[in-house]
Amino acid sequence: MDLSQSKKLFQKALSLMPGGVNSPVRAFRAVGGNPLFIKKAKGSKLYDVDGNTYIDYVLSWGPMILGHAHPKVIQAIKVAASNGTSYGAPTELEIVLAQLIKKAFPSMEKMRMVNSGTEATMSAIRVARGFTRRDKIIKFEGCYHGHADGLLAKAGSGVTTFGLPDSPGVPEDYAKNTITLPFNDPKTFKELIRKDYKEIAAVIVEPVVGNIGCVLPQQGFLETLREETERYGIVLIFDEVMTGFRVSYGGAQAYYKIKPDMTCLGKVIGGGLPVGAYGGKRDIISMVAPEGPVYQAGTLSGNPIAMAAGIATLKELSNRETYQRLEDTSKMLEEGLKEASERAKVKTRFYRAGTMFCTYFTDQEVTDYNTAKRADTGLFARFFKAMLSRGVYLAPSQFEAGFISLAHSKTDIHRTVSAAYKSLLELT
Ligand code: PMP
Repeated sequence: MDLSQSKKLFQKALSLMPGGVNSPVRAFRAVGGNPLFIKKAKGSKLYDVDGNTYIDYVLSWGPMILGHAHPKVIQAIKVAASNGTSYGAPTELEIVLAQLIKKAFPSMEKMRMVNSGTEATMSAIRVARGFTRRDKIIKFEGCYHGHADGLLAKAGSGVTTFGLPDSPGVPEDYAKNTITLPFNDPKTFKELIRKDYKEIAAVIVEPVVGNIGCVLPQQGFLETLREETERYGIVLIFDEVMTGFRVSYGGAQAYYKIKPDMTCLGKVIGGGLPVGAYGGKRDIISMVAPEGPVYQAGTLSGNPIAMAAGIATLKELSNRETYQRLEDTSKMLEEGLKEASERAKVKTRFYRAGTMFCTYFTDQEVTDYNTAKRADTGLFARFFKAMLSRGVYLAPSQFEAGFISLAHSKTDIHRTVSAAYKSLLELT
């Protein structure tokens, strides 16, 4: 496989950007080698600058649930752009997107649009602190909630991939307000909350942890978070930046039937453009300026092109058959990959929540950060490279979820499973 153009561009990029990239995991450091430079994408495929084609399971880290360059999304973007790219004043598009989101996530009685998942979580926590007049927050090991100070402690995503200690640059005074607990451990959570509740403003959680692969909540865990936070007047924040519109149309909260006080969204709701949103109970969100005293603002927030792309995406998704199709494709991939591992006699554990999935190179159940970290990252790196050479683009880290789109066809899945079998055989 010729990757010479990508290599050339990467050399140039290295002199201009840290690690040659604008987001760490893209640099391929965890798997070795050179990142692909992409020329274009369409449907389930990515095309690199050397003319290679790949079936894409990264999907821009989640947003492209309809597939790349979906005609309705592109048309909506063109129409919006021809009317001007930003006004810094309200538009009807913001109302339409908020209505679509609220219909899918009724717990978001009111919301605010922002430009990224990071902004959504950072702002939600500020609001929760303002609302409760308490400072501390609880997060769970391996959950990634964006890169705001205070949320990087024992974070997933690149922080886990690169084995970084809690990030330098976050003042200790700030970090001390973050309490980190193990995921799927209701007992430890209960003990802590019953002792320290008077200081705790919020509990933030990825209801399915996509930032250490794909870790499912065990029966009773999310329920305990809900019961205990309710009892002690603590704001429960579901970070559904990744799970929103992926675990189901109504996210993990609809799937697991738990109503958080606040929700953070991103990725899918922007249809591939930079969008985030946070929302929740009316009395909590009314704390935000100009209705309340908690300040949060954005020059480009509610950007008309981003809103238009989000609206086109959610409209296309809001059809019941869509999720049945997504489920059928995802199940086919799940069964195929599990069978490929068995036939090739490579011990793996596969987990899936809707259109998010992960194959861990381990023979033990993965239920939290520590069990995820036991996966064999060296074996994963070899698998990743073997898949890439066969035209399948997986996330370049064991600790990232894979994503499936409506554009993935049965042929794509057959080709992926066949590539996986051959790649797994190479590992033994
Ligand atoms: N929360 C979760 C659950 C995420 O997966 C991510 C990004 N992967 C973020 C927050 C941060 O979103 P962004 O990268 O858009 O800032």
